[in-house]
Amino acid sequence: MSLSCDLSILEELTSNAKQIQDDLLDKILKANANTEYLHRFLEGSSDKELFKKNVPVVSYEDVKPYIDRVANGEPSDIISGEPITTFNRSSGTSSGNQKIYPANNIYFENMLFGYALSSLLVSKHVDGYKQGKVMIFRFTNRISITPCGLPIAPALTSLIKSKYYSSMANNSTSPYEITLCPDAKQSIYCQLLCGLVQRDEVVSVGATFPSVLLQIIHFLENYWKELYSNIRSGQVSDWITDHSCRDSVSTILGEPNAELADLIENECSGQKSWQGIITRLWPKTKCIETIITGTMSQHIPALDYYSNKLPLVSKVYASSEACFGINVNPLSKPQQVSYTFLPNMSYFEFIEVYDDGGTTGEIADLVNVKLGCYYEPLVTNFSGLHRCRVGDVLQVTGSYNNTPQFRFVRRNNTVLSVYLEPTTEDDILKALARATVVLESSDLILTGFTCYGDISIVPGHYVFYLELKAKVNNGTNDLRLDNKVLVEYCCVMEESLSSLYRKLRIKNGPIGPLEVRIVQQGTFDSLMEFFVSRGSSITQYKTPICINSAEALKILEDKVLARFFSDKSPPL
Ligand code: AMP
Repeated sequence: MSLSCDLSILEELTSNAKQIQDDLLDKILKANANTEYLHRFLEGSSDKELFKKNVPVVSYEDVKPYIDRVANGEPSDIISGEPITTFNRSSGTSSGNQKIYPANNIYFENMLFGYALSSLLVSKHVDGYKQGKVMIFRFTNRISITPCGLPIAPALTSLIKSKYYSSMANNSTSPYEITLCPDAKQSIYCQLLCGLVQRDEVVSVGATFPSVLLQIIHFLENYWKELYSNIRSGQVSDWITDHSCRDSVSTILGEPNAELADLIENECSGQKSWQGIITRLWPKTKCIETIITGTMSQHIPALDYYSNKLPLVSKVYASSEACFGINVNPLSKPQQVSYTFLPNMSYFEFIEVYDDGGTTGEIADLVNVKLGCYYEPLVTNFSGLHRCRVGDVLQVTGSYNNTPQFRFVRRNNTVLSVYLEPTTEDDILKALARATVVLESSDLILTGFTCYGDISIVPGHYVFYLELKAKVNNGTNDLRLDNKVLVEYCCVMEESLSSLYRKLRIKNGPIGPLEVRIVQQGTFDSLMEFFVSRGSSITQYKTPICINSAEALKILEDKVLARFFSDKSPPL
């Protein structure tokens, strides 16, 4: 497949989705008919109807033994006709445990194709995008090796380290060497420094997921003085010890630049608040490129605050298993973002699910999904996955040419339950969006959020951890927490939860009053550092909407400043 593409390809693909999917399945089955895995069900046949009849829908745990065998040195053809050349480690911050997915060049070519196409769409919709530079923060992890010598890394790390990456990086303010730096702190510092020096060219600011972008803004709040003094002196700080980082940032930094240093000092020190800091430091920025659908929607208010409400652009929907789709209307409002599936990426099927997470068992092809219905995608690809459940729930919102578009709804697991109520990620995000209005009216912005179900005492109750920031800087980092506002916040949260929750939350019922625990500023950065230290990639990190690791909970608990409880049962 050619990696350089123009938008006519999108028209062609989406107009012929059925044929392209059929042909793709044909090719996959022919390539894989003799793998040990498929042979069990198809006995060497590559017949598509037989595939649908005999090959079971599976989840990761079902295929894990096969994947582990390949990782441990048995030949790839246990699962895949195309050799497996690498393993993608999923972030694991949503499900709690990390998985490894087999992959090869087809995966990376697909990924790059998805990114290239979505970038073309952004440049079509955002004036001047092509002429400017993007300040997109990217990071890589160290690559580990399986017992048989194959690399295991987060997909983005492998992509960045692959021969394919150069075409993706050419208009970035961050030199490639800095992206490769294994020390996240040095990498963030140097990427910021490069971005500040090239501020006049920056048309877009971003990171794969917003939790990282927000961490970078917090980093800027702590390091702006050092950054502008490096610009003033033309010398990079001594603690940047990674040689290739140091060399490439020094080249960009160039001669001392007092004028730029003064300007940055002015913007960062002269103002009462950090509102709009992105547009103040990078005045030509037209959009923020980061994924704000699904759990990431919790970060919209903070991003709006720091960017003065620049358009938030969610370009792609992808995972360690496959690249699924792209957003053909990159400037659509966050609540209206849908992803158009790309029929040439993998063979996609969809298992219908009920709104509460159960499944009807009915499976539809890509072109046969029904408008308004909810589905979990199944992936069949060239690297050993056959009808594998992805674990996300999507809703069909429309179509582009003949290809359906989907809204990302949530991960398909019940995230909170302290009695019998299944409270999904989507329920929590909706309640959060309503309750955030209460905070905003009292000049607070939410900069971190997660929750857990506390069943250590009876009745069990929901605990929401919030990190807050005052919109206007009062000279200290101290927050003025108004009891009335935060109790109201708890009540609005409860009112917005499901009717079953509200029924069970009656006085002396089996669910106790919802609690909010306010944590110190920087707590969510520590939480990210904890997950990253356990092998999750900073680039792929998504703040978990619900925490169940005792160690992660301890990080939050150690930083609790205040607690508030709902003071009445929610109306039924
Ligand atoms: P990983 O395999 O670690 O890269 O995580 C992939 C998961 O991230 C997906 O299964 C989704 O749950 C989530 N994800 C990826 N892209 C998006 C998106 N555009 N919107 C919402 N969630 C996404």
